[in-house]
Amino acid sequence: TTGVRLQKVLASAGVASRRASEALISAGRVEVDGKVVRTLGTRVDPARAVIKVDGSRITTTEAGLVHLALNKPVGVVSTMNDPEGRPDLTGYVIGRRERLFHVGRLDTDTEGLILLTNDGELAHRLAHPSYEVLKTYVAEVPGPVAPGLGRELRAGIELEDGPVRVDGFRVVGRSGTRVMVEVVLHEGRKHIVRRLLDSVGHPVKRLVRTHIGPVAMGDLRPGNTRKLTREEVAKLY
Ligand code: URA
Repeated sequence: TTGVRLQKVLASAGVASRRASEALISAGRVEVDGKVVRTLGTRVDPARAVIKVDGSRITTTEAGLVHLALNKPVGVVSTMNDPEGRPDLTGYVIGRRERLFHVGRLDTDTEGLILLTNDGELAHRLAHPSYEVLKTYVAEVPGPVAPGLGRELRAGIELEDGPVRVDGFRVVGRSGTRVMVEVVLHEGRKHIVRRLLDSVGHPVKRLVRTHIGPVAMGDLRPGNTRKLTREEVAKLY
């Protein structure tokens, strides 16, 4: 037999004690891959099974779920397998036994935060346009930036594929004639930050994603990964 007994998976995920987890199973409150399981001793693959208690997915790494933050360097393609053979995301997950999915994409010449997870359902949901997670970017643009620009961007700008409205905008730094601006958005159309800033006369010279919802890149160095904290994971679900 393979797999781990369901009550052990529940217990090590912190749901309840082993005994109490058995009671949850017997009561029909536990689902595995969409089906209620009432048989004690049912074995599951904790790295793959979708386990829910009272309809809520179990999210701890003890249950086999992996959630990583990567600071994607410039020049790396946001895919697990680039047909053209350019550097892609596989280089950052070598040696991991789980199959990891990336959540959304960054342009090859954009750097910064990308989430990687073996929870395909989560990856899909977070990347979906209707899931309005706030993303924060820092863009380096030619200055000066007019004092009214933030108001203009918050009110909404018409792009060729429809309007875009930012949730936040502020100047966060200067370097010579360049200005660093922080842009907060809840959508993810292709090249959206570049197109937005271009349309108001500030072509982007460098673009870094710093936050995805509750996850901050912080001082994670380019090319490095870190495990998300338990709190970050809980907030993503
Ligand atoms: N907006 C862009 O223009 N590029 C990205 O990679 C992400 C958001």
